[in-house]
Amino acid sequence: MKNMQTRSRFLIALLAVFLLAAALSPQAEAKKLNIVTATTDMAALAQEIGGDRVSVESIAKGYQDPHFVEAKPSFLLKLRQADLLITVGLQLEIGWLPPLITQSGNPRIQVGAPGYLDASQFAAILDIPAGPVTRAEGDVHPLGNPHYWLDPDNGRRIAKGIAGKLAEMDPADSSYFQQRFQDFDKRLTAAEQKWDAEMKPYRGRKVVTYHRSFPNFAKHFGLDVIGYVEPRPGIPPTPSHTIELIGLMKRENCKVILVEPYFDLKTPNSIARETQGKVVQYLPSVGGEKDVTDYFKLFDYDIDLLTKAFQATQ
Ligand SMILES: [Zn+2]
Repeated sequence: MKNMQTRSRFLIALLAVFLLAAALSPQAEAKKLNIVTATTDMAALAQEIGGDRVSVESIAKGYQDPHFVEAKPSFLLKLRQADLLITVGLQLEIGWLPPLITQSGNPRIQVGAPGYLDASQFAAILDIPAGPVTRAEGDVHPLGNPHYWLDPDNGRRIAKGIAGKLAEMDPADSSYFQQRFQDFDKRLTAAEQKWDAEMKPYRGRKVVTYHRSFPNFAKHFGLDVIGYVEPRPGIPPTPSHTIELIGLMKRENCKVILVEPYFDLKTPNSIARETQGKVVQYLPSVGGEKDVTDYFKLFDYDIDLLTKAFQATQ
């Protein structure tokens, strides 16, 4: 009897070794869907849904301006090996991504192929131009505002869209992805209740932002964006526009200037001096600071900054 027990223990141990070896083998690794995203926010959402069935990597870093990313040869290698490319769309990446997609020579991720996913189709989009757009309107938002991920409702919609795409590409794991989405949805709903409560005392507060990257966040949390340091999206500040903006902020008693981490602080600082206001370097993307490693931490970080700035400029 004792012998039998020892033997079955030995067999179980042996089985465990085989399973471990199988899990570590390149074959098991190759089964993972290889996802490349244009930005870190899409990577964070794809990781929430894909779990351990996917490997995810973003091309742009979270502290970079997603309109202007310097193309590197290493991006081509990543794109060449991708099963799925997730983009923000609405021409956010038009200055750098299209040639990389073409040059990658990877038929799976070409525009229109099953491995090309434009996440803007899932999101509620603001600032859609009513009429024809000319260059005079600015350079970078001709199809509506591409910074739509900064509303948790859009995060949920994008995650759901990604779950659908992953199920299509890997049907055997579709219930796994569905389960991951439901879990994400539940955690996001709980987090939203906390964020809404933290932001509630500041509803209706007026802010200025450097670039027009904040409308979805402002709408969700009831803030009022009254102006921009850029005269038009993608156009650097001019002295005449800055003077106008200072006048507007004084009239409207607006004290908070939100600046994305990739813009020069010279003009925002001079506006703050003139208006007794406060410059806040907020994060538009996951990975803008090294501790901001997922979609939840992005809102935690920005809401903490904003509530402190509103308290300090009562
Ligand atoms: Zn933009």
